[in-house]
Amino acid sequence: MNYPEATPMMQQYLSIKEKYADAILFYRMGDFYEMFFEDAEKASRILEITLTSRNKNAESPVPMCGVPYKAAQAYLARLINNGYKVAICDQIENPADLKNESSKRLVKRDVVRVVTPGMIMEDELLDEKTNNYILSISQIGNNTGISYLDISTGTFRISETDNFPAIIEEIRRVAPSEAILPEYLQKETFFSSITDALHKKAITFLDKNAFEYRNCRDRLNAQFKTISLEGFGCANLKAGVSAAGAIIHYVCETQKQKTVHLSGIKTYRLDNFLLIDDLTCQNLELLKNLRTGTKKGALLGILDRTNTAMGARMFKNWIRCPLLDIDRIRLRHDAIEEAIAKKNIARQIRECFKSVYDLERLGSKIAMGRANARDLTALKRSLTSLPEIGSYLSEFNSDAFQPDQNFQFDELTDLLEKSIREDAPPVINEGGIIKSGFNAELDELISISRDGKGWLAQLEVKEKAATGINSLKVKYNKVFGYFLEVPKSRSESVPAHYVRKQTLVNAERYITDELKKFEFKVMGAQEKRASLEYKIFTEIRKEIIKYNNKIHAGAQFIAKLDTILTLALIAEENEYTRPEINTTGDIIIEEGRHPVVEKMITGERFVPNSISINNNDSQVLIITGPNMAGKSTILRQTAIIVLMAQMGSFVPAGKASICITDKIFTRIGALDNLSAGQSTFMVEMQETANILNNATSHSLIIMDEIGRGTSTFDGLSIARAVAEFLHEIKDKGVKTLFATHYHELTDLEHTKAKIKNYNIAVKEWNDEIIFLRKLVEGGTNRSYGIQVARLAGIPEKVIQRAKEILFDIENGNSSPDSQKISPVKPKIRRQLSLFKKREDQERERKIIKKLQNLDISGTTPLEALNLLNELQDKAKKIPAA
Ligand code: ADP
Repeated sequence: MNYPEATPMMQQYLSIKEKYADAILFYRMGDFYEMFFEDAEKASRILEITLTSRNKNAESPVPMCGVPYKAAQAYLARLINNGYKVAICDQIENPADLKNESSKRLVKRDVVRVVTPGMIMEDELLDEKTNNYILSISQIGNNTGISYLDISTGTFRISETDNFPAIIEEIRRVAPSEAILPEYLQKETFFSSITDALHKKAITFLDKNAFEYRNCRDRLNAQFKTISLEGFGCANLKAGVSAAGAIIHYVCETQKQKTVHLSGIKTYRLDNFLLIDDLTCQNLELLKNLRTGTKKGALLGILDRTNTAMGARMFKNWIRCPLLDIDRIRLRHDAIEEAIAKKNIARQIRECFKSVYDLERLGSKIAMGRANARDLTALKRSLTSLPEIGSYLSEFNSDAFQPDQNFQFDELTDLLEKSIREDAPPVINEGGIIKSGFNAELDELISISRDGKGWLAQLEVKEKAATGINSLKVKYNKVFGYFLEVPKSRSESVPAHYVRKQTLVNAERYITDELKKFEFKVMGAQEKRASLEYKIFTEIRKEIIKYNNKIHAGAQFIAKLDTILTLALIAEENEYTRPEINTTGDIIIEEGRHPVVEKMITGERFVPNSISINNNDSQVLIITGPNMAGKSTILRQTAIIVLMAQMGSFVPAGKASICITDKIFTRIGALDNLSAGQSTFMVEMQETANILNNATSHSLIIMDEIGRGTSTFDGLSIARAVAEFLHEIKDKGVKTLFATHYHELTDLEHTKAKIKNYNIAVKEWNDEIIFLRKLVEGGTNRSYGIQVARLAGIPEKVIQRAKEILFDIENGNSSPDSQKISPVKPKIRRQLSLFKKREDQERERKIIKKLQNLDISGTTPLEALNLLNELQDKAKKIPAA
């Protein structure tokens, strides 16, 4: 397109911008990246930089703002964090070369890279403990394909399923920072569930060609240098291949360079892992604490003591994807057991980890030509530690400690040791990165530039002596290069061969032939040195790429080792035990603890609890007890112990035997989704529906206070019906922990074979309650709501009034609430009558006590009549037997 009214530069800008309409264009001009038009308006707002304009006096000035080239990184980060893409447009030829051309023209510019939230390589922009994924979805027939890539580590995965809801869960689990989707998906009815799962992350829509199966297959083969995808196990996953191929297309479009480190893809099945949906992950506070949103106070915060960045990423993955395969789980348990037994060696290995940098990301950076000399030094240090780690590993027998390759990188570390200076600057084009002795030509150039300084000092001495001007100095500036400076007062004494270049107020500046010749040689040497160092550096980087797969495999092994040793360390420190994995369908936990609550509580000791769930007589446990007794804690700790066992960890319990669970569901009232415009009750019911529809007889369900969000009778009825349904689900029932404040549900134990009542014991003492925190068999019929309210600091006046109201309700007296209570259904009446019995007994006791203590001889007839009247009134309140 042509823009006749625009200047040539603006025309160039506009024609480039046209191709990158959805990105903010950083247009390089001198030492700045400039932005124009809407980009400038947006960026100035986000970056809080001044918005100016070009051609201020023109009729329609062009809005513009800029950021210094050298500080661009920080500004880039802010734009990316705000969900924008940034296209970086550089000068792609040296402006100096244009000087020799006769006709004046603009230096060529083009976009060298588009930075998007999912295409980041810079350490400053990445969280070292979290993978940064770009995810893609594709639909072919009934199958949906999913693929995701972390370009900073080379992790690339692919899967496919005809179970669409599983894809949605997987999107939530992967939690990508960016997604690419085919345009046609926007028309599908399920589209909004995809965007919901993406949590407002950046989405790029690509046309259907980018997803066309054959193109995608060929693209992947070309990327991996293979002729078939058979070897990766995904040749038959057409929808998956389409999603993965689209990612490669997008990478090429945005990175504009080779991504040699993407040398393979891992196929996986969505049902290979214990499914923990996003909500359960939040409810159980696996990765983040619900209140603070940080890992402190979450399971990850307690468990993750990894020492390497790749270990930390893998650890998070293990928590999010516990295994289903008993053998694999047992292998991890074996390894932990051995690491605990040989804890001194384990400690030594952990010590070595301290000098292992993020090998995965270093490898990728090097392969993509983004590494500087400091990265190469980090690589060298990391690789040098590996043989020592390897030597300790020979002391272990478990599979997890056997690397499938050696850790020898001697040639490479030798090369890096000889070539790269440890004090190298972060930039790679200004020299100072290659050691002397590595390249003869470079050494010569370095000596010329270094010797130059001495030569200049000598020249100064020589010229001072020759001219007798003691204040003569050799100086340098960018405009004139080297020159001799003489005070004006002595300018008479300068010899004839000095050529005057500049006159200042107090001084004259001169050059000489000798000085200019020297300058040519030294300056030339410096420039040559910088470009030679750059060349040598890029050659070394290329050499390292040959080791890329080995480095990547080493990084993976170190990640796993770090994870296992961390699990061993926390197991030992926190007295976790090895769980037995059974095939009988039992979950038996003796003296179990909540791994986070036991660390966080202050003031009281954590009380361990035992629990046994099976598919015979204890499948649905109805757990009652007052608020604050510890119901949620035991529910969550049971789910967490199962999850930890399946991730391969030891568990916080005296003893545990766990069967394999396929899905853990939780319905816990801690979260509401009011911001999404839904009522608490609606959210509660949706979550319950999800559980009832998707639970299998191998699942574990945590139901905490279901039915709270509606009226008592609705809530009670729903809770009861849900409990009954779970007891019967798929004709087998499902293991469920059902905490409820509806004591009426304890009746179910009598009618349903696999339902059992438990309660969390409390002790009453002087109208107060003491939480014993012990889970015991049997139901309870007291809520102790008023006592708990007092503990919470409700004013005494309110407490007393609440007691009066409760008394009235329990006695069927009229009160605002007793009206509501009157049409109670039989079961509720029965509960109330239980309460009543106790009250009646109390009244009888009082009547008897009064009679026993009565001094008949000291009572007047009138007093006796009054007393009789009072006693009759009291007695009338007690129903006749
Ligand atoms: P509920 O669900 O019955 O209202 P929670 O499970 O939320 O009660 O427990 C309330 C608090 O009691 C927890 O925050 C914790 O501090 C404490 N708590 C719970 N279980 C135990 C336990 N087994 N030992 C010691 N303290 C506990």
